[in-house]
This record gives sequence, C-alpha cells and structure tokens, in this order.
Amino acid sequence: MNQDNKTTLQQIKKLPDFLINQIAAGEVVERPASVVKELVENSIDAGATKIIVELSQGGKTLIKVIDNGVGLSKENFGLVFERHATSKISTQEDLALNSNLGFRGEALAAISSVSKTEFASNGFAVTSDGELKAKAMPSGTQVTVSELFFNVPARQKFLKTDSTEYKKCLEVVESYALCHPEVAFKLIHNQKTVFDYPLSNSVDQRLQAIYGSEFTQKLLPINYLGSETKIHGFIGKPELATDRATNQHIFVNGRPLEAPYFNHAVKNAFGSLIFPSKKPVFFLYINLSPQDVDMNVHPRKLEARFHYQGIIYNLILKAVKSVLENTSLAKTAELSKQSYQNYIPNTSSYSQPNLTPSYNFSNLKPTEPQNYIKEAQSEPTFAEPTLVPLCQINNSYILCETPEGILLIDQHAAHERVMYQKLKLAAQNKTPNSQTLLTPIHLELPASQFELLTQAKPLLASIGFEISDFGSHSIVINAIPTKFSQNDIEQLIQGILKDLEENETVTKNGFAKLEEIEDIVINYAACRGAIKFGQKLSLVEMQALIQEMELIKEKQYSCPHGRPSMISITYDELEKQFKRK
Ligand code: ADP
Ligand code: MG
Repeated sequence: MNQDNKTTLQQIKKLPDFLINQIAAGEVVERPASVVKELVENSIDAGATKIIVELSQGGKTLIKVIDNGVGLSKENFGLVFERHATSKISTQEDLALNSNLGFRGEALAAISSVSKTEFASNGFAVTSDGELKAKAMPSGTQVTVSELFFNVPARQKFLKTDSTEYKKCLEVVESYALCHPEVAFKLIHNQKTVFDYPLSNSVDQRLQAIYGSEFTQKLLPINYLGSETKIHGFIGKPELATDRATNQHIFVNGRPLEAPYFNHAVKNAFGSLIFPSKKPVFFLYINLSPQDVDMNVHPRKLEARFHYQGIIYNLILKAVKSVLENTSLAKTAELSKQSYQNYIPNTSSYSQPNLTPSYNFSNLKPTEPQNYIKEAQSEPTFAEPTLVPLCQINNSYILCETPEGILLIDQHAAHERVMYQKLKLAAQNKTPNSQTLLTPIHLELPASQFELLTQAKPLLASIGFEISDFGSHSIVINAIPTKFSQNDIEQLIQGILKDLEENETVTKNGFAKLEEIEDIVINYAACRGAIKFGQKLSLVEMQALIQEMELIKEKQYSCPHGRPSMISITYDELEKQFKRK
C-alpha cells in the first residue's frame, strides 16, 4: 500500500433519507404501472368500494387514484411519506399473518422521492415537501403523482412509449378488478373513460363486465375446497387457448401474482387438449392460510414464496384436470381412482368382432377426408381387429367393449401417439412417406426463423417434408408427410419453428445436433397432425385408429407426453358403483 492510498481511506457515511428513498424507489417503482399498483392496493386496504384511476400519457405525467375508503387522519400525515411507516402492522406476528395487500411501509416514501406527489385525505392535503393545507374533497383519499422520474432522468429514459406504459397500467387495474369484484373500478386515460365496472356480487359478474358473455360462456368453473387450501375460479375451454399468455391470472389471498410454476400446473392439466404452443386461459383464486405463504419476498410483491409449493401445484393440476374430464365425461370423474387403471389388454381373450360388414374402405366417399384412413389402407398388414368400437362420445372419446368391461380411448391422445411413433420411425430409418402438393406452399420467414428452419431441414426431410429455398428468407414446401392435411401446413411449420425458438431460448444451445431438435419437431408435428379432440369420426375411422394403435403395441397406452390414451372401467367396478356388490 503506498502513501497516496492512505489519504483516500474509505469513510462510511449514513445516506440522507431522500437518497435512501430514491434507491428504494429503484426496486419499488419501475414504471407508472408500479405506482398504480401500490396506490390501488392502498385503496383496497382502506376498504374502498369505488376506485378511480386517472392517467395522462400512459401515467408518465399524471397518475391519480381516488378512493372512498376510510382515509387517514391528518395527525398521521407527517408519516405518510416516511420510510417504514405503516398503519398496517406493528409486531412480528402481524408481519406473518397480515393479509392486507401492502405492509412494507415504503411505497409512498419511494414514489414521492421520484415524483411530485400529493396525498389528500378527508379534507386535508400534504405534498412530499411537507406542506399541509385544507382541501375540499369527498371523503376518502386521493393520491396524485405527477411527473414521474422528473428528478431521475436515467429512469425516465427506460420508459417505453405512452401506449406501452398505458397498457401496463391497464393490466394492473384490470387484474385488481378481477380479484376484487366487490370494488367498483373506473379507469380514465387522457381524459377518456376506458372502463367503468360497477360493483359486482361475484367474480362471474366481474368477468362478464370485462370480457362479455361470448367469452364467459366458454369458461368452466373450478372449485376445490381443501381444509387449508381453497381454489376456485374459471378455466377457459381448450378452444379459448391462444398463442399469447394474456388471460392467465393467478390470485393468491386477494393479490394478483406472477406464478409461472402454477401456470405450468394448469398447462400440464390441459395436456394434449391444446397444442403445445398454445396458452390456456385461466382465472384461479387460491386462498390459503397466511402462514403458508410469504408475500413479502419481492419488493413489488409480484411474486410470493409458498411453503407447500409442490402440494399446491398438484392441487391445481388435479382441480383443473377433473373439470376438464368432467366436462366431457360426467360420470367417470365420480368413479374412484382405482377404476382408472391403464388398460392392458389380454388380446387372447377377445371375442371375435361382431360388426358387419367388415371394413371396406373403397366404399368411402371421397369427401370423407380423413388422411389417416388413407394411411391405414396403405398399411401392409391389416389384421383382424381385436377391439370393437361401439360409438364415439362427445366427438372425443371412443367407447369400446372388452371382455373385462368397457374401455374409453382418448382419440387425440391415441392418434398423437400413433403419429409420433410413425414419424420417429421414419426419421430413424430415413424412410419418409410424402405426398406431393399440387400447389406448393410459399412461406416468407423472419431471419431468425429462417435460420432455425435451415437447421431443421434435414430432419423435416426425413419425416416427409420436401422444402426448398426460394430467394432470401423464403421457402417453398413441395411435399408433406402423407398423414397430414394440406390445409394447415403453414401453421404447422410456423408452430414447429415457434417451439424450436422457445426451446432455443430455454437451452441457449443453438441446436448443434439434429437429435436435439428431433423430439421437438416430431412432438409438435404428431400433435398437430393427429385427429383433434372434438372431431367427429365414423365407425370405420375409429376401427382404423384402433388397428393402428395395436401395431405400436405397448406404446399405445399413453400419448407422447405421458398422459394415458385410454382408461378402462371393469364390470366389477361398474357393479360396485351401481351397488350391486
Ligand atoms: P404500506 O401500504 O405498506 O403501509 P404505503 O407507503 O403504501 O405503505 O402507505 C403508508 C401508509 O399510508 C399506509 O400504512 C396507510 O396508513 C396510509 N395510506 C396510504 N394510502 C392510503 C389510502 N388510500 N387510504 C388510507 N390510508 C392510506
Ligand atoms: Mg402500500
């Protein structure tokens, strides 16, 4: 150490309060939407039944939140902008049990350190510089935040356009409107009323007000009442699933939360009912004992820590699954768990099929479009069927009779597995089975996707796609695998690329090897090419599917994602259910 350094030895100083608050503001206040969130939470905590949020320029120049809650007496005004000043907790037990929305006592301190803030309540107003004056106003509280980040230009620069910031604010207000139907919410932007949701009795009513009845008709109610944990709310029918995760809401103890782990549980429950790239719609309200969740781990309280995360995951999975199953099959959900044994057939004991006539595919009208019939026809060995389909239920399940009882086949899951096995085999043996398109499909791709496609091309070729380059970033699809319908090839290719893209971001590996993308591509293609859930099938088509399933032997009992493709209910179980035993 030299002489010079001695003179510059470190000195520890206590930071002035305004600086501490500004540093804290970096965590609490990221953008206008974070201010809106804190203010709306405070209004809800104050017992408001009406909250008005007024914004200008996406909240950059003005955020005003008006409520009719209990307000604050002016004796407390001195502490409003103080850090760690809160009326909501005073002991450590409070911290553990507090079910209010906010209890860190730092929001207003942080907000006022990076904006011009006025807090007005029950006839008095105070500004961040401490000035107190009388103000004519209705009872309740009005917090006005002007010129956000006027004194921190670096943060101001990070803000997006007015319309993006506005959208974030809108999402916040909407998410609180969703979890507090008992509060009326009005949103005004640039002096125009965006919405004005009246006070509602229930979540249903609020959903109606926000989304309208066409959407809400496609929602299915969820209800799980455990001793500690309650889950209620709605999931959207598979048809509502979209490419974007816009309507995925999880509320825990009255607070909207980002909980990717729980989103995953819902997605998992939908399984092959939706395409892998689609995002299901859900509004889940989870209530649990405040001791089982720590809401205080994130400065903006966007995330929480759950003590029994795995258990909640499974509860969500079960609750959602059972509703999806119930919707299609009212009775099975009531059967006891043991009755869902995966079906392992004892082929030797099957009676001969008694369906007449035997299947004559040449009688099919050309308008019966099913590609996979064509494929079944082309199978070299067309063995005598061993399993007899009786009928299709809800256009989704095939009901079969077996010597032991009845068997239900999930047509999508089963066919998805068949497709998967075939594509896999074709890829391994490089024995593609193609159909040439009469009109080749021309596709323009963004540079990044074009790059991915180039990498995936040899694999796509090995399963039956014939794709050639056509100028920069555009391709021509000349042939597709035999089993695919020509109608949605464009979507299929785009879906595959999207899945690859997502996976690439997850693994960041840039797909060095073909094997790495094989499963992604084949999984997607199998799902997309398979008969849909809800698609009407003729008896002949059902029979063809069963034939194909038997060819893939033990693989037939589950879809490629591991969901069962068939369940059996034995006569024994039926007798128990009908109280014959
Ligand atoms: P916290 O919400 O964590 O207590 P805040 O900084 O958000 O901290 O608020 C500080 C205090 O100001 C609150 O504890 C509450 O007493 C009071 N307050 C804030 N907003 C309102 C409101 N809308 N109505 C009544 N009191 C409020
Ligand atoms: Mg607060």
